[in-house]
Amino acid sequence: MEKRIGFIGLGAMGLYMAKNLLKGGVNLTVYDINQDVVNDAVISGAKAGASNKDVSEKSDIVITMLPQDEHVRTVLAGEKGVFEGCQPGQIIVDMSTISPGTSKDMAKECDKRGIKYIDAPVSGGTKGAETGTLTIMVGGQKEVYDECMPLFEIMGKNIFHLGDVGTGQTVKMVNQILCAVNMLGISEAFVLGVKSGADPEVIYNIIRNSAGNSWQIDGRMPNYVLTGEFTKPGFALDLQLKDIGIAVNTGKELKVPIPVTALAYQLYTAASNSGCGKMDMSSIITLFEEMAGVQVRKVYSDEKEVAAGVN
Ligand code: NAD
Repeated sequence: MEKRIGFIGLGAMGLYMAKNLLKGGVNLTVYDINQDVVNDAVISGAKAGASNKDVSEKSDIVITMLPQDEHVRTVLAGEKGVFEGCQPGQIIVDMSTISPGTSKDMAKECDKRGIKYIDAPVSGGTKGAETGTLTIMVGGQKEVYDECMPLFEIMGKNIFHLGDVGTGQTVKMVNQILCAVNMLGISEAFVLGVKSGADPEVIYNIIRNSAGNSWQIDGRMPNYVLTGEFTKPGFALDLQLKDIGIAVNTGKELKVPIPVTALAYQLYTAASNSGCGKMDMSSIITLFEEMAGVQVRKVYSDEKEVAAGVN
């Protein structure tokens, strides 16, 4: 692609996505408030922007991959932000997960400046970001979606145009409710199984081949829960809490009762307050483990022998 592309937000997801664009031959200028990740992208061939405004001045299309609504507002509309450096005809592709309302507000601000905005949140986790196999859910003008397709095809595998600005975020919100609630179900089911005497790894191996399996079991149980490595890069629990907060607010606005999501919001809030906010969202299980007095961890064969008195 000959266009100049900007990428802002090189976190757990964004750095992999930017590196895939570089591997795909894209002319990329990047910015993040964390200089270490900027340096990492530069080693892979990116140019470092001096600010969000600077990236904007040097790009035909600006991609953002930021934590929450407030970060998107600051990066676009704040001091030395993207709007200060924008040119008419430019495209902004926000791939962060934020509320549909903020996406629509940002699109209106873009309209006033003669620039185009689409929302394009993703699913697939850090693994999907690394392997360029993300699912990408896009809301906004079809012509803009078509123009960005070469970039989406580098970063993702399943790419959907859903309708007007905000519709990508709406479908992503549905996905996030299901991730959050599924991980709660896994947490209490595995904790009960272990307290009842079953081996956590045996439960995992059987459930992955049974009707109770899910994406969370396949990915999160071996990578985080069974090993206890909750601090490895992943999907921060506070980001999951933000996503179900968006769902709870949307339920309020539309007068739709979502009692299961509301309960999930309370439990993820408790886990965040107990110190899990920056850990992978699967650390929600530690809340259930503490209540039951057991841990759902892989038991290595020598530990099993000690437990059985073989040593
Ligand atoms: P992250 O917190 O790891 O990364 C965010 C990056 O944005 C950080 O590097 C941070 O320094 C940067 N940033 C913050 N404020 C900035 C500013 N003012 N200017 C420039 N850079 C700034 O988050 P992440 O896990 O990469 O997630 C990003 C988005 O994608 C979130 O909305 C998240 O909900 C969503 N998401 C995450 C995953 C996942 O598995 N991690 C999966 C799908 C979607």
